[in-house]
Amino acid sequence: MEETFYCILCKKPMSPALGIAECSFCGKKEKADYVCPSGHYICEDCRIASSDRIIKKVCEATQETDPMRIAILLMKHPAIQMHGPEHHYLVSCVLLAALRKLGKFEIDNSAFEKAITRGKRIPLGSCGLWGACGAAVGVGIAVSVATKSSWTSDKERSLSMQATCEALSEIAKIGGPRCCKASTFAAIEAASKFFEREFGINFISLTSPHPCYFKAFNDECLKDKCPYFG
Ligand SMILES: [Zn+2]
Ligand SMILES: [Zn+2]
Repeated sequence: MEETFYCILCKKPMSPALGIAECSFCGKKEKADYVCPSGHYICEDCRIASSDRIIKKVCEATQETDPMRIAILLMKHPAIQMHGPEHHYLVSCVLLAALRKLGKFEIDNSAFEKAITRGKRIPLGSCGLWGACGAAVGVGIAVSVATKSSWTSDKERSLSMQATCEALSEIAKIGGPRCCKASTFAAIEAASKFFEREFGINFISLTSPHPCYFKAFNDECLKDKCPYFG
């Protein structure tokens, strides 16, 4: 009997494909082996990609201007753990990808590499151990990369820290134990408000993270206590 594969994006059973399909992650069009009834297809390279690679690939290729939508897609990829330090730079990269598609700032592919390199230095558990959730610092990294800020900058340095501060404040309100999905949602929502106020950038309609798609996979879910549960 043939084994049934389920779509990692919508959980429907995949069936053998006849024609060309577009990879739901990187957009590559190729002869597909399997597709789901909703037309989702994942190319071989994306299927086996590591967390860093899939984040970089998707952010380089995306046509989306909604960072929440890109984040939710990426977080459904099996290489992205339920909780894990890859969320720190996932936040930076999806913000930079959406900003680039909107034609704001000078953002090229090296921006993602920079954000990943910086984000990787934030350890797992920095929320409770350092008092700074990596998803919030990820927002600060996105502002820093976009504005080309450094420690010698004036306004850009302040804006990078202010962005981290606003995201961190929202994440702190959620309570614990930590949830990297809730922190990512809160960081992107705070970043969206920040970019609109400071730069007049509107991320079009931010996809609603409600109800949280990931709650079924989180053994430590805060359930009704989490603002994204329902
Ligand atoms: Zn599907
Ligand atoms: Zn692909």
